[in-house]
Amino acid sequence: MVKLVIDKLPLGFEPSPDDYPENRQAGFDKSCKQIQFNDGKPSACMSAVAEIALRIEATLGEGALWDAATQRLLWVDITQKRVGRFDPVSGANEVFQLDSMVGTVVTTTRGDLLVALREGVARLDPTSGKVSGLRCPAGHDATRIRFNDGKCDPRGRLWAGTMALDFATGAGALYCFDPDGTVSARVPQVSISNGIVWSHDHRRMYYIDSPTRAVDVFDYDAATGAIANRRHAWELPEGWGFPDGMTIDAEGKLWIALWGGAAVVRFDPEAGRVLDKIAVPAAHVTSCAFGGPDLKSLFITTAREGRSPEQLAQEPLAGSIFVARPGVSGVGAFSYRG
Ligand code: CA
Repeated sequence: MVKLVIDKLPLGFEPSPDDYPENRQAGFDKSCKQIQFNDGKPSACMSAVAEIALRIEATLGEGALWDAATQRLLWVDITQKRVGRFDPVSGANEVFQLDSMVGTVVTTTRGDLLVALREGVARLDPTSGKVSGLRCPAGHDATRIRFNDGKCDPRGRLWAGTMALDFATGAGALYCFDPDGTVSARVPQVSISNGIVWSHDHRRMYYIDSPTRAVDVFDYDAATGAIANRRHAWELPEGWGFPDGMTIDAEGKLWIALWGGAAVVRFDPEAGRVLDKIAVPAAHVTSCAFGGPDLKSLFITTAREGRSPEQLAQEPLAGSIFVARPGVSGVGAFSYRG
C-alpha cells in the first residue's frame, strides 16, 4: 500500500463541465468555483478537491465509518464482498474477505463488528474474520434483495436498508435491528436504501432513498425508535447525480456523497441550502465519514461500477478512498449496543 498525496488532479482528469454535463447543467463553474442553483438560490463555494488516501480499485467502495477505538477507517466493497480496515497513519489496509455481498459495517460496544450482508445482519469478529449470528428479517427475500447502507442510531440500534439486485423500484425496505433481538421494517417500498444520520438533539432522522434524488427527514423518538412525518429536507437540483451515503458534522450539517456528481456536498438541513462542495476525481462517489484523531479528515469512498472503460481511463483513481480537510469536525459514530 502506498499513500499518495497529490497537489493536483492526475493527468487526464479534471472535473470540468465538459467531462460532467451534469455539472454544467447545475451551473458548476470551474474557474470561479461557484455553484449556481437553477432556481436562483444563493451559490456555494467549491472549497477543495479531495486527495487520495488509499489507492485501490474497489468495484463498489462504500460504507465509510471511523472506528475511534482502533483509529481505523472501516469501509466495504459490496460486490467484492470485502470489509476493509484502513489505518491512515501507517497506510495499512486490512481486508476481510466474506462469502456474501456486504452493504455496510458498524462497530459494537462488545468490540466486534456488525455487517449487513445480502441475507441479513451478522457479527464479524475482526480477530478471526469469522462471521456468525445471522439475523434475517421476516419477508426479506435474499434471492432478489440485498442489504445496502446502514448506521447505528443514538440508542445503539442498527438501521439498515435493502434494495433489489435488479434495482426494481420500491422492492426494498428500511429495517431496524434492536439489540434486544427484535427486527422491524420501518420504511416500506424503498428502492435503494442509503445514507442515514440523526440530528444532535436526537429528534430527527435524515434518510436517503437514492432514486428519489432527495434527502428526507423524519421526526424521531430516541426512546422508542419511532419515526413519523416523513418529508423532503432537500431535493437535489437536476444534474447533480444521486444522493448516496451521508454523515453529519459537529455543527449539525449533512455531508452527502453524490453518485454521478463527482463530489461531496455540505448541506444545511435547517436553512435548506448547500454550504460547501468538495470535488472528487471519480464520478461515482458513494459515502463519507469524518475520522482521524481530531475527527477533521473527511474520508470519501468511490466506485468503479457503472463507469465504462473509456470513462475509467479518464478516472484512474476511481474506486479509491479519498480524504479532504474541509475545516469542520465530525462527531463520533454510534456503536451497536450489543
Ligand atoms: Ca451506498
